[in-house]
Amino acid sequence: MMHAFLEAAADLLLGAACPGCGAPGWGLCHLCAARLDAPVRLVDRDVGVPVAAAGPYRPVLCHVIPRFKDDGALHLTGELAGLLARAVAVLEPPEASVLVPVPSRPSAVRERGYDHAARLSRAAARRCGLAQARLLARRDQGSDQSVLGRSGRAANLDGAMTALWEPRPVLLVDDITTTGASLREAVRAVAAAGGRVVGAAVIADADYR
Ligand SMILES: [Zn+2]
Repeated sequence: MMHAFLEAAADLLLGAACPGCGAPGWGLCHLCAARLDAPVRLVDRDVGVPVAAAGPYRPVLCHVIPRFKDDGALHLTGELAGLLARAVAVLEPPEASVLVPVPSRPSAVRERGYDHAARLSRAAARRCGLAQARLLARRDQGSDQSVLGRSGRAANLDGAMTALWEPRPVLLVDDITTTGASLREAVRAVAAAGGRVVGAAVIADADYR
C-alpha cells in the first residue's frame, strides 16, 4: 500500500517536467518527442542475431530511461514500450515468437522495488500482439556492468545467466545495449537450454553514431 502510494507520488513529482530535457510541462515535450521519432536502426554488436535499436541513447533517452528505471517514473512505460515495440516490428519476428526480457541483477531489482525489464517487455508484447515469457534468470555475481570497461563487461557476464527451455522463437528485449555483452550472454543461455533466439530489440543504442 505504502509502496503504491510512493510510486504514485514519484510519478506526480517527476511528471511535472519533461523527462528528456527538464522543460516544465507534463510528459515529454514536443522537441524530445520529435527526437525520439527516429527510424529504427540495425546495430552490429557481434551478438550472433540481428539487433534493432529504436534510437540513440543521447541526448534524450539518457535522461528518460533512468527516470523510468531508477526514479520510478512509471508513467513513461507506454512511451518506452512504444519505442521498444517499433524495434521489435523491424525485426519481423515470426507470429509464434515470444518476447523475453534480459534480466537485471537481482540486487538491482530489489533496490528499485520492481522489475523494469519485465514491465517494459510485457507492455511491448501487448503492443506487438506477441507473448512474453520470463525465461532468463541472472545470478547476482559480478559487478555492475555500467562501471566496467569493454573487456570487463564480457568477462563479468560469462555464465551469469540461465534459461528455461522454450520451444517458440525467442526475441530478446532490453532497454539499452552498449557493448552487447548482456545480449550475447542471453543468446548463449537460451541456446544452452535448447532454445533459439531470432533477434534482439532494444530501446536505446549507447554506441549510436
Ligand atoms: Zn524535452
